[in-house]
Amino acid sequence: MQIRETAPECIKEKIEPVENGGFRFACHPGVVCFTECCRDLKLLLTPYDLIRLKNRLGLSSDDFLDRYTDCGFDEDRSLPRVYLQMSQNERKTCPFVSPKGCLVYEHRPSACRIYPIARASRLHRVHGLVLENYFILHEDHCMGFKEEQFWKMDEWLRDQGLEDYYELNDLWMAIVTHPRLRNAHLPQKQQQIFYFASYNSDKFREMVFNSRFLSLFETDDNEIEQIRTNETALLKFAFKWMQFSLLGEGTLKPRTL
Ligand code: SF4
Ligand code: SF4
Repeated sequence: MQIRETAPECIKEKIEPVENGGFRFACHPGVVCFTECCRDLKLLLTPYDLIRLKNRLGLSSDDFLDRYTDCGFDEDRSLPRVYLQMSQNERKTCPFVSPKGCLVYEHRPSACRIYPIARASRLHRVHGLVLENYFILHEDHCMGFKEEQFWKMDEWLRDQGLEDYYELNDLWMAIVTHPRLRNAHLPQKQQQIFYFASYNSDKFREMVFNSRFLSLFETDDNEIEQIRTNETALLKFAFKWMQFSLLGEGTLKPRTL
């Protein structure tokens, strides 16, 4: 798994291997560059990032998408992606940055949590295992590397609260990188299914519970209760629906009439 092959050109030369099992780094209000990195970003949001942020702000999915995101397409893919929209000021600052730091720190996106580490992961489709590798993203402007604190990689990931994010992000990435979707030119209808199921959990819930949706598939009462009351369970169910409708997998079982 070579992260350099897939990394954007502008950061390729900044990627370094992790040596001695970890790295020296600290980020706090005392570093001269504090919050400098929270601007002019192309910050991809995952579906779980979006749920955490919209709930932190008390917004519906629609309102969060309208106010804080841009939608775009990757160069070689036809899947719509959602990016955090930077503010319309000269410095293009993140809408959540303040002189004291991140205003949504407890719910900040995965990309902000893992920085300055880069993670390359892929699903082993035969064994169902997630294979992962970590690298350091060493940017010259980041003074955090001059600090004394040494982190082992597993300590860093735990400290940044990444475990919950990885479970949901990996499920989603397995769909995004599936051979049937990679480099495919999906019809608009399928793009809409992907966007809606990935990013609009409120509308997806509405469709599940206020339409014939549940009558079309075999579902057990326990799962229905889970997706009614737990947004993470609802998101996992949305992924199953995408696997069924976009990839033709047997994740949902149509009811026989
Ligand atoms: S550039 Fe590095 S040290 Fe400075 S605020 Fe960003 S992460 Fe922290
Ligand atoms: S969400 Fe927070 S940590 Fe991430 S770029 Fe914005 S201010 Fe910085």
